[in-house]
Amino acid sequence: MANPIFSTLPMTVFEEMSGLARDLGAVNLGQGFPDDPGPESIRAKAADAILNGYNQYPPMAGLPELRQAVAGHYGRTQGLDLDALSEVTITSGATEALAAAFLGLIEPGDEVVVFQPVYDAYLPLIRRAGGVPKLVSLRPPLWRFDRATLEAAFSERTRFVVLNNPNNPAGTVLPHEDLALLAEFCVAHDVTAICDEVWEQVVFGNARHRPLITYPGMRERCVKIGSAGKMFGLTGWKVGFLCAAPVLTHSLARAHQFLTFTTPPNLQSAVAWGLENSEDWFVQMPRDLERSRDRLTEGLIREGFAVLGSQGTYFLNVDLAASGVALGDRDFCLRSVKDAGVAAIPVSALFEEAPVTSIVRLCFSKRDETLDAGIERLAKARELSPKTADSAPASPRTPA
Ligand code: PMP
Ligand code: GLN
Repeated sequence: MANPIFSTLPMTVFEEMSGLARDLGAVNLGQGFPDDPGPESIRAKAADAILNGYNQYPPMAGLPELRQAVAGHYGRTQGLDLDALSEVTITSGATEALAAAFLGLIEPGDEVVVFQPVYDAYLPLIRRAGGVPKLVSLRPPLWRFDRATLEAAFSERTRFVVLNNPNNPAGTVLPHEDLALLAEFCVAHDVTAICDEVWEQVVFGNARHRPLITYPGMRERCVKIGSAGKMFGLTGWKVGFLCAAPVLTHSLARAHQFLTFTTPPNLQSAVAWGLENSEDWFVQMPRDLERSRDRLTEGLIREGFAVLGSQGTYFLNVDLAASGVALGDRDFCLRSVKDAGVAAIPVSALFEEAPVTSIVRLCFSKRDETLDAGIERLAKARELSPKTADSAPASPRTPA
């Protein structure tokens, strides 16, 4: 019998924690997904397309109507001038778009600048593509980089940088000056930016999402990645968008053709309809999420947690040390799910080097009852945890 082959790839923390939540019947504030069914009008379009529409292979790069709708949406909402046919490719979720970007563009030995905390898929895929990650650590509460950090990370070997903005798990939306600085480094070092912007529509208050592709010199050196799953709160749909100048798009499509080749046509046509008919949704959805963010924040502060501010995404973070909890994030999350019945994400799992170990990510795209149950259970988890000596009572704080 052949030797068994064991994967060296890690198990993703999102599945680990959701698996525990399912097995233990815990409230799941870990993995990011809403607990409502999503916009009915778009789901009805998908159902109709399954029953009455086309269900065979669509064109490899996506349905023309969806590619047009993506270009139109980004023209209206972000002022982009994308050509639907030469610059937009439809993928099976942003995850496939990331894989296509890494596998289609990276050559063995290329250095790739990546910021920690890092979305779980990036490093394993970059390495399988032969890339050499160069890690830059961002630290709470602001999670920002500066000129000195970029100077230390970029060199003549750098070929790519991966930017996730708005950021999961930090909940930050980068200000203009940070994006301008990164664009300056990309141009100076002839680097292509792979921009994971799946959270672009989920931005709160005065924060504003600015796509890196609009910065000077970046139009030809950016791959912009979006996700209908995040735009419409239908995370299981897995319809992603890859947008880039024609030369880059050519390489991206070559990878996409051998990854999935296509994406279900019925979902594509429903997303195309959604992008053309959801002006109100794109205004109301972030407002509703902001209200949920505030409900979770206020409940957690009441229970003695120190909450870090969130400007976008489905996520906020708590700082355990500042909450008086003398446990690392992973131990706290295991205790929470096993002994208090609530799942969360230890942010240290999204670091490869020198992890920050006191931050726990919580998902607030949930009904009020779910959030309230989560708060109660997190309070119990805090009660069950050892406390820091100087922590009674904890002094909650909310950095901007
Ligand atoms: N990138 C980031 C930063 C994400 O948060 C997610 C999903 N939460 C993805 C990519 C994957 O998106 P999709 O479900 O469309 O594959
Ligand atoms: N992006 C989701 C999150 O951050 C998880 C998606 C996944 O599990 N791959 O929670």
